[in-house]
Amino acid sequence: MIIVLRPHVTEEELARVVAQVRELGLTPHVSRGVTRTIVGCIGDEDRLREVPMLAFPAVETVLPIEKPYKLAAREFAARDTLVALGHAAVGDGAVHAIAGPCSVEGPEMLLRTAEAVKAAGAVALRGGAFKPRTSPYSFRGLGPDALDMLAEARAATGLPVITEVLDTRHVAMVAERVDCLQVGARNMQNFALLTEVGECGKPVLLKRGMSATLEDLLLAAEYVLARGNPHVMLCERGIRTFERSLRATLDIGAVPYLKQETHLPVLVDPSHACGRRDLVPALALAAVAAGADGLLLEVHPDPDHARSDGDQSLRLEGFAELMDRIRDVAAALGRQVAEASISGVSPR
Ligand code: PEP
Ligand code: MN
Repeated sequence: MIIVLRPHVTEEELARVVAQVRELGLTPHVSRGVTRTIVGCIGDEDRLREVPMLAFPAVETVLPIEKPYKLAAREFAARDTLVALGHAAVGDGAVHAIAGPCSVEGPEMLLRTAEAVKAAGAVALRGGAFKPRTSPYSFRGLGPDALDMLAEARAATGLPVITEVLDTRHVAMVAERVDCLQVGARNMQNFALLTEVGECGKPVLLKRGMSATLEDLLLAAEYVLARGNPHVMLCERGIRTFERSLRATLDIGAVPYLKQETHLPVLVDPSHACGRRDLVPALALAAVAAGADGLLLEVHPDPDHARSDGDQSLRLEGFAELMDRIRDVAAALGRQVAEASISGVSPR
């Protein structure tokens, strides 16, 4: 932490700042310029963060040097974190496609989707059992019945399954039934939920909140990591900006930034980012080109009759076509596309 003092502070004011820094157990290094004095602080920055240094009249600004997140920071890990999803290891450099319907609507549509996305190359099936909906009157998912359907689809195809968890009271039940728990955009800063999934022992797919900065996202991941769960994947899914033409604004720069900043895998969800089926492929390819470890894509056998997010869901053939284009873009970049697990074999 560097404390920049106001011009022409008195010796007495400087001494007060220095004493406070020492009191917190840090070592102050005073550097005097012609008009300004700077106090460099060596030691545990967190101690200093707890004190309102700006309340000292002599202090103009406080510049942190260390990152507020530790376990999520790239420097913390010697190599990239790999998150196991069935036979796949997300973060290994290959492109991983995770696909499925926004909501699990029934066993047939789920199985049909699972078989189709697997045949096209998806490594995991994602379907919502508990849906966070803006309106309480919208379809909110089939709940525990959908978990049964996901288990059936998993048994039939061998694909690992992912579903969103909305409530701390459901974490243990959901973790028992699925291979990976999604924490959605609306819950990215639900700290009780993050703590609970941090203790569940299953991989966590953490989506960026619509108004969350990348630092907020990394600190949310830190909550999960700090509870002893290292299997966290981050997902950029578009943020709210002044732009209204699309459902959200895909922050493509988040991908290379996060890849530098953290060792955790970085996914992109182009479906929720644009909200339109015709634009999903372009955003998906851009995400691969930007270095994303994987994609989260909404796919439905009959999007026109989907109970949620039909407008942005790819048809089964559309998904297969997109996978071919993803292979082309990946190949142009010297990357592989990870393939699905072996048919009918449980990924455990
Ligand atoms: C979803 O993945 O279906 C979903 C609700 O996404 P988000 O949390 O990103 O809005
Ligand atoms: Mn959706």
